[in-house]
Amino acid sequence: MVSPELAPIAKVGGLADVVIGLSKDLVKKGHNVEIMLPMYQGMRYDMIRDMEEAYAELWVPRYAEWVPEKVFTGIVEGVRCYFFTCGNKFNRDEIYGYDDDMYRFVHFNRSVLEFMKKTDKSPDIIHCHDWQTGLVPVIMYDHYADTGMNKTRAVFTIHNIEHQGQCWFGEDLLASIGMDCGQYYRFDRLQDNIKHNMINLLKAGIIYSNFVTTVSPTYCKEIKESDGKGLEPTLNANSDKLGGILNGLDYEYWNPATDPYLELNYDIESFDKKFTNKGSLRYRLGLADEYRPIVACIARLVPQKGLHLIKHAIYQTLEKGGQFVLLGSSPDEAINEDFRRIANELSDNPNVYIEIGYNEELAHIIYAGSDMLLVPSIFEPCGLTQLIALRYGSVPVVRSTGGLADTVFDVDHSGKGFASSNGFSFCDVNEDGINSALNRAIECWFYHGENFMKLARNGMRCDYSWNNSGNDYVNIYNYIKAH
Ligand code: ADP
Repeated sequence: MVSPELAPIAKVGGLADVVIGLSKDLVKKGHNVEIMLPMYQGMRYDMIRDMEEAYAELWVPRYAEWVPEKVFTGIVEGVRCYFFTCGNKFNRDEIYGYDDDMYRFVHFNRSVLEFMKKTDKSPDIIHCHDWQTGLVPVIMYDHYADTGMNKTRAVFTIHNIEHQGQCWFGEDLLASIGMDCGQYYRFDRLQDNIKHNMINLLKAGIIYSNFVTTVSPTYCKEIKESDGKGLEPTLNANSDKLGGILNGLDYEYWNPATDPYLELNYDIESFDKKFTNKGSLRYRLGLADEYRPIVACIARLVPQKGLHLIKHAIYQTLEKGGQFVLLGSSPDEAINEDFRRIANELSDNPNVYIEIGYNEELAHIIYAGSDMLLVPSIFEPCGLTQLIALRYGSVPVVRSTGGLADTVFDVDHSGKGFASSNGFSFCDVNEDGINSALNRAIECWFYHGENFMKLARNGMRCDYSWNNSGNDYVNIYNYIKAH
């Protein structure tokens, strides 16, 4: 695995969870997995075991010269990891957000391959994640194939096509790692599909890999059809090597039967104990102890998550007699302020709680104590919150897009029958759309309580652990190894 992020030591988003979750499942299935990532200053070093130097002087091209750097190794959650210093390019406070991000990550890509060559690693598969690793397959095929890696195959996973790693000065970017740009400025190679004088690192990963995956079958279809942010022609031209595999959820970490944050642990057999958790959630948040459903929303507050729909849902839930809990935060202070304003406006209402911030413990308690979890995303490559909600018996109310469409099946409209349904969903990105699902969910809770409980239990029976998704990846690895 070559990745820019890894949970729990260097996490910005879901990509970090996928890399550790998939790696652990592959190890469990008997495969040999190693993870390579940059050595960030702000990593959780306390969660890395047996850290030591792996390579003292790795010489890597830097324009016309070669410069030495160090590689370290250690164990994270039982998986061997390698950390690349890349000069001092990752000695900064944040993982992303710098003007030279593209330079930092292509340097990392080049170092990874040089390290593999020097240490005689010739893995069956190199699995790369997002634009930050998009040059790995390119460098491998064009510079290292005759160094013992001619049998190595590349898999590339697109976690979110919004971020593509586009760069105006492609010549200089590639020259910075000792490569000549000439042959790459072509439409069928690295040239950006829309801005022709840019190169596009996500496109590089797509074109040069043996197989490309996205994180759900529906997202795979959506990005080919119209949501590919300019990459639709590339994805369609490569559709015979493109597939969608749902992300799994870490079922050990997210387990209501053992979750240490909960007041009382429960499972499907002891579902009644969930109500103790509902009571303690109310007590903790100062919500009224009345006969009302709790609708929750836990999200990064970014436009992708359907901010105007979240706001509308707060008021709509109150009008329908429910209670609303929002836990979220945004990198954009103006958005945080906007939600704080709503919190102030409703501060006297005992049926609303809004917390702006990141709070892991509270998130667990909300999943366990809520009746419903709202995910009204505009787009959602896979989504984890609805999977966690299902696991904790909180019924998801979602917009039917991407991975949400693949995992939540509407009780009235999915055509699956009651026994195979697990939630409520809607399509239109407007107030009528969200009302059509939210009102049904709240009414079901008030007037058909037995059915609502059955739906929650149906959700708890779903299996979105890594086991199935891990098998899908192994099938792809085997397929490309044999072709
Ligand atoms: P994304 O990766 O787009 O943020 P996902 O649904 O894939 O969305 O993953 C979100 C993860 O982050 C979930 O584990 C969710 O519980 C967690 N999360 C999001 N916001 C918060 C928050 N404010 N506090 C605690 N956990 C949060």
